[in-house]
Amino acid sequence: MNDKTAKIEFEVQLQAKACPFCGSWDLRVRESKDSDYPMFVQCNSCGSDGPNEAGAIKAVERWNERKSPGPVPEDK
Ligand SMILES: [Zn+2]
Repeated sequence: MNDKTAKIEFEVQLQAKACPFCGSWDLRVRESKDSDYPMFVQCNSCGSDGPNEAGAIKAVERWNERKSPGPVPEDK
């Protein structure tokens, strides 16, 4: 883990809400291969993930907007 990743993890722990599916606070920001929207929040406990966004903080915001359980359709 480099310094940038550590900082992102810290931000997520401060700002992300508990997983809406399993209630876990064990969350992390992950990076996908999508060059435009590479960042998303994933729950380490149940594996559910949030919407892809360009930045980690935005990804956390989108994660926090999730309310109802259920699979999230992929953005087309
Ligand atoms: Zn979960």
